[in-house]
Amino acid sequence: MHDLDYSEPPSLAEASRIAADLGDSARFMAGGTALMLALRQRMLRPTHLVSLSRLAPLRGIEVDAQGALRLGALILHNEVAASPIVRLHSAMLSDMAARVANPQVRNQGTLGGNLCYADPSTDPPGCLLALDARVVLASHRGVRELPMAEFLVDYFTTAIEPDELLQTIVVPAWVPGSIGRYDRFLRTAAEHRPMVNVAAVARLEGGVCVQARIVIGAAVAVTQRVGAAEDCLLGHAPSWERIEAAANAAMVSIAPLDDLRGSAAYRREMVGVQVRRTLAQLFNLTRT
Ligand SMILES: Cc1cc2nc3c(=O)[nH]c(=O)nc-3n(C[C@H](O)[C@H](O)[C@H](O)COP(=O)(O)OP(=O)(O)OC[C@H]3O[C@@H](n4cnc5c(N)ncnc54)[C@H](O)[C@@H]3O)c2cc1C
Repeated sequence: MHDLDYSEPPSLAEASRIAADLGDSARFMAGGTALMLALRQRMLRPTHLVSLSRLAPLRGIEVDAQGALRLGALILHNEVAASPIVRLHSAMLSDMAARVANPQVRNQGTLGGNLCYADPSTDPPGCLLALDARVVLASHRGVRELPMAEFLVDYFTTAIEPDELLQTIVVPAWVPGSIGRYDRFLRTAAEHRPMVNVAAVARLEGGVCVQARIVIGAAVAVTQRVGAAEDCLLGHAPSWERIEAAANAAMVSIAPLDDLRGSAAYRREMVGVQVRRTLAQLFNLTRT
């Protein structure tokens, strides 16, 4: 690794200005779990690391007046998993966080770092997209808020500008009567990262599905909602037939990644399997 300058700015505006002045030569650092690997593998070659550790606006967990959960970007995966506030607000988010990586990474890696790095083989983006979450981006120029769908742009790419920081992740109030589930598929138990993940949130009225969000992650370059699969559920009572239709629709709606961890054909097949499993669990259906 080459020599690096290191700073710990005391304010968000100052951190943002350093990044604005230094451009590509500077990198923000939260837990460092992704960044240090990228430096060692020479995928990134910054000359200046800007630690976010002193930035109070990036910390905290609270529920606002609208009932939305507001998570500071520096929250650790383990803190998300262990927080009674998070569990009360959306248990699927707690359950997801408890399964990220391994205990070491969960104790060091932040939710904000995970989202900003935009590695497709991760868990939080899919869960947060299904929960209709938004992100608050802040810089010395001001603050803006984006839905997750606009924040996630492409393979290792988000909508964040080089001088912007992810400050807060906002998860709207849980809609009464909604049900949600997050699942991931790992090819072998020794792997930490998901090969496919599926997040689903639905609402039933009189036994009929009136709202559905189905999200596929890890198998694709950028986590995505699959509207065609959602349409298979809307207006119907949950059944095996509807689930089968949704799984088939999801399989044909995606352009799967094709790499050393798994071929596109295998990933597509496993998306079908995982959508079936997740929706069956979500709607509590068992084979008779
Ligand atoms: C062995 C291993 C297994 C893993 N398995 C999984 C897994 O199963 N599931 C999963 O979801 N993830 C997994 N991960 C990824 C892990 O979740 C991320 O590495 C971690 O969350 C990144 O957070 P960090 O705080 O360490 O980010 P850092 O490494 O500090 O930063 C990552 C990137 O984000 C930028 N950044 C960080 N915070 C901000 C911010 N607030 N605003 C703007 N930019 C910012 C940095 O500049 C950098 O480019 C794994 C990682 C490892 C090393």
